[in-house]
Amino acid sequence: MIGNGSNGRNGSDSHGTGLLDHEELVVGRGERTGLYVIVGVHSTALGPALGGARLWHYRSLGDAIADALRLSEAMTYKAAAAGLDLGGGKAVMLAPEGGLAGDRRADLMRDLGDVVESLEGRYVTAEDVGIGAEEIGIVAERTSHVTGVPEEMGGSGDPSPITARGVEVAIRACCERRYGSAELAGRRICVIGLGHVGGKLAERLSRAGAELAVCDIDEGKRALAERLGARWVSSTEAIATECELLAPCAMGGAIDEETVERLRCEVVCGAANNVLASDAMAARLHERGILYAPDFIANAGGLINVYGELHDLGADQLESLVDGIGEALTGIFAQAEEESQTPLAAARSRAERRLEAAERSLEPAV
Ligand code: NAD
Repeated sequence: MIGNGSNGRNGSDSHGTGLLDHEELVVGRGERTGLYVIVGVHSTALGPALGGARLWHYRSLGDAIADALRLSEAMTYKAAAAGLDLGGGKAVMLAPEGGLAGDRRADLMRDLGDVVESLEGRYVTAEDVGIGAEEIGIVAERTSHVTGVPEEMGGSGDPSPITARGVEVAIRACCERRYGSAELAGRRICVIGLGHVGGKLAERLSRAGAELAVCDIDEGKRALAERLGARWVSSTEAIATECELLAPCAMGGAIDEETVERLRCEVVCGAANNVLASDAMAARLHERGILYAPDFIANAGGLINVYGELHDLGADQLESLVDGIGEALTGIFAQAEEESQTPLAAARSRAERRLEAAERSLEPAV
């Protein structure tokens, strides 16, 4: 079990960003590894809080907690907007500088499993940045509140192929909106981050005939770029690549006060969670005439995949939920125009309507 933990619960029903809006926050050190494991449970109004577990080297514990809080809140919006009966949660594990391998890495997964188990189903975990399906299999040794379990163990495995498919659906909806056609042949697209999702997205876009620029901080990803015939751009310059559509598929916060002014694209639509450093960036993108697909709509495919695992959905049902991402975005863009708001505000208001209805139904009758 995790020691030195703090576990705060406040039962607030509002949905802004910040600690006081979260139902629960667990911060502790793994019994086996001594490394920090953090779980943020933002809301369980619509169901168990589901969200992946991230393994990353943070500058400080405070940065990691802030990430867990923001990411778990985004999961609430993602599930609500996608029409899924799930709440929002996220786990963050602090990797030491230089990463973590071998037995210690496996032990950290067991530590995570113990924390998840201690939450008795209020939080359900899955993979996120830094961990894959194989490691989720180790987490499953310690808890049953886990999804994205390897297929050979009866789970749905790596969610990233479905996430990538959903991002492509979202990109097509953006192109339809911006250019009047969902066709991707010849579209100039820059993908930032060629990891599980970004790599698969780049492959899909390449097959669809897009003209690709790509980047990753991992030089080893150049091989994929070469295989796809994509132009390699440096990770410091990628954000300012001249293109029609920018697809951020690495870490959050890629668009901040400084980078938003450097963008030379017409559309932003990618897989990264919390791609905007703050909501104010959505207004600035709007002012600059850049169409923004809210990340929690565009990247919902992974959540849909693990929802399918929890509810035994067939391939057809999954496919129609993923196609729903495009329809949802089209509705969000139309609502944003009608109500003179940003697509982010329109997406949030859709999710909030569902959350408010769920919370009302939970209130005791008087
Ligand atoms: P990943 O760890 O497999 O890939 C991330 C990639 O980004 C790595 O190749 C890494 O080297 C690269 N990278 C990191 N910082 C970079 C930078 N500054 N510039 C360029 N490249 C950089 O992670 P993933 O599973 O592909 O997830 C990517 C993003 O999508 C994350 O924000 C994640 O939360 C989000 N997301 C993932 C899923 C999923 O199914 N895996 C679902 C929804 C959202």
